[in-house]
Amino acid sequence: PVRVRFCPSPTGNPHVGLVRTALFNWAFARHHGGTLVFRIEDTDAARDSEESYQQLLDSMRWLGFDWDEGPEIGGPHAPYRQSQRMDLYAEVARKLLDAGHAYRCYCTTEELDARREAARKAGRPSGYDGLCRDLSAERVAAYEAEGRTAVVRFKMPDEAITFTDLVRGELTFQPENVPDFGIVRANGAPLYTLVNPVDDALMEITHVLRGEDLLSSTPRQIALYRALAEIGVGNGGTPQFGHLPYVMGEGNKKLSKRDPESSLNLYRERGFLPAGLLNYLSLLGWSLAEDRDIFSMEEMVAAFEITAVNANPARFDLKKCEAVNATHLREMPVAEFAAACEPWLRAPFAPWKPEAFDRAAFEELAPLAQTRLTVLSDITANVDFLFLDEPVRDEGSWAKAMKPGAEALLVTARERLAAAEWNAEALKAAVLAAGEEHGLKLGKAQAPVRVAVTGRTVGLPLFESLEVLGRERTLARVDAALG
Ligand code: GLU
Repeated sequence: PVRVRFCPSPTGNPHVGLVRTALFNWAFARHHGGTLVFRIEDTDAARDSEESYQQLLDSMRWLGFDWDEGPEIGGPHAPYRQSQRMDLYAEVARKLLDAGHAYRCYCTTEELDARREAARKAGRPSGYDGLCRDLSAERVAAYEAEGRTAVVRFKMPDEAITFTDLVRGELTFQPENVPDFGIVRANGAPLYTLVNPVDDALMEITHVLRGEDLLSSTPRQIALYRALAEIGVGNGGTPQFGHLPYVMGEGNKKLSKRDPESSLNLYRERGFLPAGLLNYLSLLGWSLAEDRDIFSMEEMVAAFEITAVNANPARFDLKKCEAVNATHLREMPVAEFAAACEPWLRAPFAPWKPEAFDRAAFEELAPLAQTRLTVLSDITANVDFLFLDEPVRDEGSWAKAMKPGAEALLVTARERLAAAEWNAEALKAAVLAAGEEHGLKLGKAQAPVRVAVTGRTVGLPLFESLEVLGRERTLARVDAALG
């Protein structure tokens, strides 16, 4: 049975790279009818925070992911927060030491730096040189007497490690490139290098799907699994690995947590649909079919194959992400779209008084807004003219539309609007006729009317907007513009 894990560290805000990793693991688990384990890697007390942990959970739920084992739901391998599993790691470290798979290393940082520098100058590999591998009992006693503390280091086998990456194919790491590595700090704190493979072994993870940035840990982890199997930790298996391609941002640099467009919260605040965002993120390394960019998560789950993931770096393209989201918005049933807009029609996003909101009026315009929105937060500015006592006044729009001649046009338009039957078609005819009187085409004639009524030069179709706004308020706004 397939068992995969999503195991973020709760440091800072969730970012899109993290979401892509969660998505591919989730889709893989669901495609194979497997189990998704959600594990929190919070062993770094200095960097992890409770707030970030809560945010991770909240984000996962917002995105619509479900997990089979993990925080808040528990499972056969609980607890799923590494900070609650510390005794376990200490015991495994002790067993590794006893079995000779690990050793205490007394080298100081200064000594390590000096030797690394010397190796670098001599053109030799600059990783740990294995000096403490076989310390005599006297040496250890001497170091201890000096008051030195020791880290625990894992002893890498002196042989190449080969594995078949599900995305990249066969990979081989030579021993000189994978030196012995620390697994427990001098203060006793276990490191990622230990706790991650230990938990993967204990939780019987079958497939590790994660970012390419972790590729260099894989040979170490494979060696560690073998040692764990020998000392009877876990079920003796080694998971298969698939490393997801890098995500590149602006200027062909790796998208970093610090890039604003990588912050998941930003997408939430702008009103992306989880379905739209996930659809786009799935394209970072995978595709459903050559000619299909738009699909649902059900379709992704049905089709997802990890071996179809492309190893080449993927480019994060915000414009494309927005376009995919806009398509999902358009394809929603209109009632669902209107409901999804609600948060942006209320405080703190909406600039109008709460009692000014008129749901029926909004619902009349919702179908027109639905085809024009990129993100849900755009709805506020598109309908604010309906609920504000006075329209916003966008100065750029006023300068552009209220040119000489606009006033005369507005006077005529006002007369004609006042006399018209109050429906979009008749209102259009009224403005068209007013324009003709002044030698203006419809586009030019409607601009000052739009700015007078909505405050801006761009917005929803004007005549439907006027119809919903009503005769009295429309005429009052034209009067106000005429001063
Ligand atoms: N906690 C690690 C991270 O967030 C997990 C890496 C892994 O998937 O092995 O980078």
